[in-house]
Amino acid sequence: MKMLEKVEENQTEIVKEYVNRLYKKVQQRNPNEMEFQQAVKEVLDSLVPVLVKKPIYMKQAVLERLIEPERLISFRVPWVDDKGKVQVNRGYRVQFSNAIGPYKGGLRFHPSVNASIIKFLGFEQILKNSLTGQPIGGGKGGSDFDPKGKSDLEIMRFCQSFMTELSRHIGADIDVPAGDIGVGAREIGYMFGQYKKLRGAFEAGVLTGKGIGYGGSLGRKEATGYGTVYFVEEMLKSQGLSFKGSTVVVSGSGNVSIYAIEKAIQFGAKVVACSDSCGYVFDVNGINLETVKRLKEVENKRISEYVNDHPEAIYQEGCSGIWAIPCDIALPCATQNEVNKEAAEMLVSNGVKAVGEGANMPSTQEAVDTFMEHHVLFAPAKAANAGGVAVSALEMAQNSARLAWTLEEVDAKLQGIMKEIYNKSLKASVDYDAPGNLVVGANIAGFVKVADAMIEQGVI
Ligand code: GLU
Repeated sequence: MKMLEKVEENQTEIVKEYVNRLYKKVQQRNPNEMEFQQAVKEVLDSLVPVLVKKPIYMKQAVLERLIEPERLISFRVPWVDDKGKVQVNRGYRVQFSNAIGPYKGGLRFHPSVNASIIKFLGFEQILKNSLTGQPIGGGKGGSDFDPKGKSDLEIMRFCQSFMTELSRHIGADIDVPAGDIGVGAREIGYMFGQYKKLRGAFEAGVLTGKGIGYGGSLGRKEATGYGTVYFVEEMLKSQGLSFKGSTVVVSGSGNVSIYAIEKAIQFGAKVVACSDSCGYVFDVNGINLETVKRLKEVENKRISEYVNDHPEAIYQEGCSGIWAIPCDIALPCATQNEVNKEAAEMLVSNGVKAVGEGANMPSTQEAVDTFMEHHVLFAPAKAANAGGVAVSALEMAQNSARLAWTLEEVDAKLQGIMKEIYNKSLKASVDYDAPGNLVVGANIAGFVKVADAMIEQGVI
């Protein structure tokens, strides 16, 4: 017995050295790409126990292959603004892995977009998509275009120009983009229109998140936010807890936040705060979701205007202060690295019981460590926000079958998928000696399926 333990210990040291070497290589090859490096580091560290148990993954250099995108496309996006001035943005698509299905992942339009952001998102998407149990690979794209303050016609011209180039790289069996920050049904509509015109064919399955009238799926809009709450409810249930009667803080007020707030309220929680990139609102009576929907989905206004309708609420400039509001459950649904160590410590000292990531990588590594140290239930993004892309895969299935499911059907499937992701992640955490650590569990459960597919398909 002692002997066996010793061998395993040695093996663990060897794997740790290997993983560190790999990480150094990632740093050298992708200098200054901090977000990409951060996403890879977390995954590499959590895969150590799998590599110890299954040395074939090391022998077959699965990780070396997985951390190098199959393809990174960068292109010029010229367009003409309303004043007749020519503008030039940069577009991206990373096709990271198609081991288990066509590349799949959203498009982000935001001034912060660069190769590092797109690669971190694409890398995360591989494992997230695998976790959904659907046949979808990992990809991501976008542009440094800032939709804020642009007219509808400017948005249309930009989307058309973006798609003129992207169209040569995508297809229902090749790569299927969707939305992300700055890209909703309106942008998908303009891009789909341009794709259709260029191809001369109605290929519904080339994009997801489409309007319901031309191939979109009922329930896709709500899926990421609802899915996050379904996942967190499952995690809470394991400890005899629930959303019911809890106080919740949700950052952001975009598509993910709005539907996370809606489901949390439906589950009996009181959501007391939400935010946008300028500041946050705190409403002791509970956030009025109709007002948020009107401001953000219809009028395109700042969240600061919330207090005009609800004078008892408080608006504060700046985003980080939202984490100082005492709550039982925190759902970061805005953007990457919005919860740092300080914010995590604040949440912990105010007695937070659970954190569920609706955004992609919203917690820094130090923040995650802080939650773990204090035994806060932690639902990592890859697992908790996978509901959006899962329903995108259901949209693809409906497009292939040329039929449309009811909202009830889609929602029931979404609930089943989120439960399954929770169970898979929990089981992997137990199997690999980190019981309850869903970061480790989700990374492992997502990875194994992709790794086995890669080995079966040979070195390509
Ligand atoms: N952008 C979403 C995500 O981060 C959805 C992607 C999709 O539906 O393809 O998963």
